[in-house]
Amino acid sequence: MLHDPTYGGGLGFCQEALSGLLPPGYHGPLVVALDSNVLIDLQLYGAALMSDEPLPDSVAKDKAYAADLAGLVDLLNLWLLRDIRFVVTPRSRTDAKRVTKPEVLERRLASIDALALSLAFQTEDWSGQAPSDAPLPVAAGTETRLPVGADRELVLEAQAVGAHAFLTRDRQVLKRTALSGRQMTVTSPSRLTSDLVRGGVQPFFGGTCGGDGCPYGDWSLPAPDMGKWAGVLSVLE
Ligand SMILES: [Zn+2]
Repeated sequence: MLHDPTYGGGLGFCQEALSGLLPPGYHGPLVVALDSNVLIDLQLYGAALMSDEPLPDSVAKDKAYAADLAGLVDLLNLWLLRDIRFVVTPRSRTDAKRVTKPEVLERRLASIDALALSLAFQTEDWSGQAPSDAPLPVAAGTETRLPVGADRELVLEAQAVGAHAFLTRDRQVLKRTALSGRQMTVTSPSRLTSDLVRGGVQPFFGGTCGGDGCPYGDWSLPAPDMGKWAGVLSVLE
């Protein structure tokens, strides 16, 4: 279900346009697993970014950080209309429980649930389990250059649930990850957004092939079910 095109999800993407991101012959949603640093960025700065408010000085003067936040908001704007499916993996929930401040924990868990809510709209399957609620998936590859521990496990979980991209701002993870097995890109918000733009992706069109057997060839609904917006947008407090 996670990879099936649905009207509720909106217009998806095709491998022919996004060859570096999607597996051969694929036409469907772009599944993006979020590292916890990206989830926290969404919570802290998502609302300000979506309403064009200035970032705090401490963030704005960090050029790389500001570029990633700009990439993240562009990605969110695409997500509003296109079938990008944000997922977090089972460990995000167990790791969140290590947060000691109760109010932080509550917000973190609420965000994980909110992502699952949007995902249910996108898959149009209310009985389906979001990856964050599912048992640990069976590995679909190996990773050899990250230290044994949380980072490696999060990357491998994302690959196992079938994410096409693991979205992180962690420089070490971006630089070092050496993954074999099922294709998955480890990328930053700014890089993923520029890859989509380079593939011709626009809010209402682009990034699809329209070839024989392409589900998006005669896609009759221009926009997704707006119900999908509620979950993810509620993360941006
Ligand atoms: Zn296609």
